Amino acid sequence: MAKHEHLLEVKDLYTSFNIPAGEVRSVNGVSFTVDRGEVLGIVGESGSGKSVTAYSIMQILQNPGRIVSGSIKFKGQELIGLPHHQLQKIRGDKIAIIFQDPMSSLNPVYTIGNQIMEAIKLHPNPNVMEIFDHVIKEKEEKYKEAIKAKKSVKEIKQLKEEVKIAKHKKANYPHERALEMMKLVGINEPEKRLKQYPFEFSGGMLQRIMIAMALVCEPDLLIADEPTTALDVTIQAQILELLKNIQNKMGTGIIIITHDLGVVAQLCDRVNVMYAGRLVEKGSVREIFYNPRHEYTKGLLTSIPKANDEKERLIPIEGNPVDVFCLPRGCSFAPRCKNCMKVCLKKYPTHINVSKTHTTACFKYVLDMYKKGKFTNKDVKNIVGSSYLGNAAFTPISRFDVLDALNDYKIAQGRYKKNKEEGKLSNEELELLKYKIKDTRNNYKRAKRDLSISNKNRKLSRKERPSMVKGDMVKHIREAKKRVKESSDNVIKKDLYRYLRNLKISSYEIDFKYHREFVAIAKEEYLIARSFIKGIDKDDRITRTKVLSEIDAKQRAYEDAEDKYNRNSTLISKLLETREKLIKLNTKRVKKAIKENTVNAYKEFKGKHLYFDKEEELNEYLGSFEYTKWDCDISLTRQNINSLKRIADVNERKIHTLRDRHATNKEIDDAINTKNASLYEYWFKRGDYEITQYYKMRKAIFVRQIRRLNQINKHKRRVIFREGGKDNGK
Ligand code: SF4
Repeated sequence: MAKHEHLLEVKDLYTSFNIPAGEVRSVNGVSFTVDRGEVLGIVGESGSGKSVTAYSIMQILQNPGRIVSGSIKFKGQELIGLPHHQLQKIRGDKIAIIFQDPMSSLNPVYTIGNQIMEAIKLHPNPNVMEIFDHVIKEKEEKYKEAIKAKKSVKEIKQLKEEVKIAKHKKANYPHERALEMMKLVGINEPEKRLKQYPFEFSGGMLQRIMIAMALVCEPDLLIADEPTTALDVTIQAQILELLKNIQNKMGTGIIIITHDLGVVAQLCDRVNVMYAGRLVEKGSVREIFYNPRHEYTKGLLTSIPKANDEKERLIPIEGNPVDVFCLPRGCSFAPRCKNCMKVCLKKYPTHINVSKTHTTACFKYVLDMYKKGKFTNKDVKNIVGSSYLGNAAFTPISRFDVLDALNDYKIAQGRYKKNKEEGKLSNEELELLKYKIKDTRNNYKRAKRDLSISNKNRKLSRKERPSMVKGDMVKHIREAKKRVKESSDNVIKKDLYRYLRNLKISSYEIDFKYHREFVAIAKEEYLIARSFIKGIDKDDRITRTKVLSEIDAKQRAYEDAEDKYNRNSTLISKLLETREKLIKLNTKRVKKAIKENTVNAYKEFKGKHLYFDKEEELNEYLGSFEYTKWDCDISLTRQNINSLKRIADVNERKIHTLRDRHATNKEIDDAINTKNASLYEYWFKRGDYEITQYYKMRKAIFVRQIRRLNQINKHKRRVIFREGGKDNGK
């Protein structure tokens, strides 16, 4: 095998089953690779084509299944089209499979020993056989030489016995190997077990026997088709451990087919996610679990329980698996996708690189990347076929599409009726028109179905959001508290506040555009749009369609604004609450530190009996102390405080003015930072949601703190002057 060559390379594999009801396209253009010593997981729900992919690789598809096109290369050798006898040499020897159901995969009328030994007899290891032959030949030669040399009868008899033993060992090799494999997979009393029938074994043991049978010829590639589905968790853990050990020992490439994401996380290096016969996402285990990009993968991950989060609700993927007889024209997941757009119904997304090892086939990812500025308009054009700007393809499905389809259907009906009455067209031409009616009716039905699914999903996703926000908040708050506790010890005040300011309490972005007035405006626009429909003639279908579409758009805008407003309000209040708690926690520490350091300063002063002639010297001396762990400034006087307060007020007014103009955070920051940079500067750099409530509270606390420090300083001065000497001058 060349150095760069993969152990297995599957390219554009299409597999179908032609049954009387039609063609079932089980595998649609699947491509992936497996390297030696690598574990690849293929996940997806039942009927997604995982097992058919495995059977296609093994070429054991049952009639009427057939590989329509594609390429399967094993160690560089093309398997598709390989003669049967050559395939027989590879199957079971170089590529082995562990079937899903051991009970029905083993022959009930043969003993386990027979079934394991059959594989060894069919694919004897040439290296081992060579050694056996060599030993037998050597012994035979020795025996013949002894006869020629007319050695003693006893010696000749012994050599003859040795030849017999060597031959017996060769003949007994399958049995020995079977015993060895039984031990390897952890079957007790293997000698006895070899003579037993499948019904005498438990499910877990049968699964081990299947593994033993698959591994007995030391294959280069092992396909495990749901190897742990029928097993309880303890046996499952043992089997997974066993597979891992075997892979480490033999360097076997393994493909694990499963719908259990836990198995994937435990065992695999890379994961392929399949849906409706297509690979929808590929990546390393970390990428798929921590950064899923396809809507289906996200759905899969949110629908599995997490051991550490008791309160979080599981969110199932709504709807049923897609009908493989009639795959949708666009994305197969579209009928169940919450973020389905028009483009998803028209075009199948190709795989887009997320990273070097991670690809996904989802238009939502393209849209997200475009919004984040990571994809340009040109990139979108390359992927989608048209640019993003003003592209209706990236909007949700609306009533407009349904009415469009209905229009087409009615036109087709009218044309057929007219032509039939006129009698000018031939029968074939009329048939064609009839076919057109059928086609447009199907389109209309599909559009109606898509709209209802899209509306349902939208409603569901609106309901789900608050709980997600809540779960998210609780998690982040917990983390934030932990981090503050850990890091608040040796920090200076400035660093601590910077830390608090940057504390990412929520992963959700807050869009300040959605305040109460904005929601009210959106609602009003929606109501106005609704009022238009009353005055339109019912037969004026085109105008009605346009107005209805407008109403839909306005309704969506209003609902979105309301959603975002609610979500933002919850987030803001939670953020404020949390930060306040954190600040309280740290204010306590400030007070304690001030007290400790003041006492220390006084003690040190007493010990040294210092004298100061001028107040500056005293201040300098006091300033050299670390009064608090958080560098409190002793030069702050009432005058300073007043001027800082004035600056703060000016800045606050500025912020209010900017907020009235719906300025962005950046604009506010810029405005503050241009002039009047003050000690308060870093407080203003927070989001504008904090400015009104949080800022006021913080300002008061800080002012109180400074006053307190001033009092302490004054008190210290008094003590020092009193105890330091009468000649100091005040
Ligand atoms: S967003 Fe579109 S492309 Fe992505 S999964 Fe949903 S329907 Fe498919």
